[in-house]
Amino acid sequence: MPTKINALNTPVYVIDEGRIKHNLEILKGVEERTGCHILLAQKAFSAFALYPLIGSYISGATASGLYEARLAHEEMTTGRHENHVFEPAFTDAEMAEIVTICDHISFNSLRQLEHHRPAWEKAGVSVGIRINPEHSTQDHAIYDPCAPGSRLGVRRCDMPDHLPAGVEGIHFHTLCEQGAEPLAETVRVVEEKFGPLLREAKWINLGGGHHITRDDYNLPLLEETIRHLKDTYDAEIYLEPGEAFALNAGYLVTTVMDIVDNTLPILILDASAACHMPDVLEMPYRPPLKDSGMPNEKAYTCRLGSRTCLSGDIIGDYSFDTMPAIGDRLYFEDMAIYSMVKNNTFNGMPLPDIAIMDENGDCRVIRHFDYHDFKERLS
Ligand SMILES: *Cc1c(COP(=O)(O)O)cnc(C)c1O
Repeated sequence: MPTKINALNTPVYVIDEGRIKHNLEILKGVEERTGCHILLAQKAFSAFALYPLIGSYISGATASGLYEARLAHEEMTTGRHENHVFEPAFTDAEMAEIVTICDHISFNSLRQLEHHRPAWEKAGVSVGIRINPEHSTQDHAIYDPCAPGSRLGVRRCDMPDHLPAGVEGIHFHTLCEQGAEPLAETVRVVEEKFGPLLREAKWINLGGGHHITRDDYNLPLLEETIRHLKDTYDAEIYLEPGEAFALNAGYLVTTVMDIVDNTLPILILDASAACHMPDVLEMPYRPPLKDSGMPNEKAYTCRLGSRTCLSGDIIGDYSFDTMPAIGDRLYFEDMAIYSMVKNNTFNGMPLPDIAIMDENGDCRVIRHFDYHDFKERLS
């Protein structure tokens, strides 16, 4: 039975299908105008109920390992549905399965590439090697694969002068939530350092971290960069964004369960930063909250905390026009990316339900979690 968002049980993640379609239109436009291929990086968004829709707009999916690859193989069956994978190391057993379900594999080292050569050669899978351009365009060290000491990608000094026999692709991933300008800059560095190898490649994968669906994203520069690579090296160009697919396309709805006082009013919510939006503590960042302001911007400033035992399970300080009351609902925005995929049941917290909201605002709960989802992982 369809329900409106304000009548769903909380906590609940609500995926906004209209916003997903809006993002898909933009991504498909880039594919159509440049001839490139865009893949969903599932690590940011794996709500597979939407894979048939996503697959009908773009070229396929990419995975961080066997399980995500298998998920795409099973659930993304519409459209071109290419299935790519990159992981720093694969076991032999994983590789045996991967070569039966993936069409492209990117390796992180020459040793892994050679170790698995018999498997991928026999299966006829197209393989690539991830390079490290050693050119940082961001300051966030934990999200910077180009930082000194990075284990991700082969540096120019460790690459041979020609691609190893049978290798068809070059993969690099260096961005995180960035625009087309740092991509263009990185491409210039990659051409300078790896130009002769690009000429030998059949495909070049520009990784993820492209915030293509953000309002201020420089689409013309992205498209110029893709066309330049495609024409110069006569190669297929892949992009594998994750966030861009579901940017601003989801909410986490929570209810105020209690209000305690210590220096300022502290709302106790049925949602948790530690369990339900871990990037708030890990990144860290301040999630947007509907109808709220920065501390002291509006009349009532409150701290938003969870009902776990962790002192630091605080989402942040927000201000409101009217003082929130017990039983009120709050709507955290931009919650479709990296929240559902990273949630956990620390403290035995229930996992939020997952609902999809259609373009009329009707919501269907597609997944409900209970005690068994907590227990089953523990013994
Ligand atoms: C994380 C990652 C992506 C997706 O990144 P987004 O920031 O979600 O766009 C794509 N490819 C690789 C190799 C990654 O590690």
